[in-house]
Amino acid sequence: MKPLIAANWKMNMDTKSSVSFINSFKKYIKNIKNMEIVICPPFTLLNKINEAIKNTNIKLGAQNIHFEEKGAFTGEVSGLMLKDAGCEYVILGHSERRQYFNETNSMINRKIKSALKNKLKVILCIGESLKQRNNNQTMKIIKNQLLNCLNNIKEMKNIVIAYEPIWAIGTGKNATPSQAEEVHKFIRELLSDIYNKNISKNIRIIYGGSVKPNNIKELMAMKNINGALVGNASLDAKSFAKICGV
Ligand code: PEP
Repeated sequence: MKPLIAANWKMNMDTKSSVSFINSFKKYIKNIKNMEIVICPPFTLLNKINEAIKNTNIKLGAQNIHFEEKGAFTGEVSGLMLKDAGCEYVILGHSERRQYFNETNSMINRKIKSALKNKLKVILCIGESLKQRNNNQTMKIIKNQLLNCLNNIKEMKNIVIAYEPIWAIGTGKNATPSQAEEVHKFIRELLSDIYNKNISKNIRIIYGGSVKPNNIKELMAMKNINGALVGNASLDAKSFAKICGV
């Protein structure tokens, strides 16, 4: 399967910096063909980036949706609207949304359903906190998040799972390749139990948490790591291009 590298710009960048990012980035990645590359800017930049990536192989994604399609939900943006804005992907269930905006697994489940209905591909984030890891609860947490977020979801071909240990996000301390692989393998086996072996082996399970140009190669060398979700290191065109060129 084709690996996926996605940039999560979070609440960063403006019109000028993002267009200049794309102009440099597209030159760096001109010859990269064996990688699917997605950029997820803030909502305000979606239109601009959609124009800037025309005639490139870069795809557009967003960082969240509301689970309803339209109506009286002041301040929210729906999957229907993101599709209209040119998005192909959406990140759902990021730990920052769970932590700061009280998103629960059941809300994320509703968001996934709405995204799929509107033909958006989903990057579903799951991951444990440091406390949970230290208490040997990692696999239990992962299982709980996965089962609840995917409850009643039958169609898996448009879902990517991002394993993002919370203790590795924005900390500069990535999971070691073997720590990440252990969880990715567990996720793959779990997906095989929930669905079947054939579905499970075709689902991309990507890693996120302090991915940098100097650690991507060893992470991608792991059997069950099929790409990366990148925060900080995706804000610089050269560094993100190096990550995409693994
Ligand atoms: C993220 O927030 O999805 C992420 C992986 O961030 P960082 O690369 O900065 O750890």
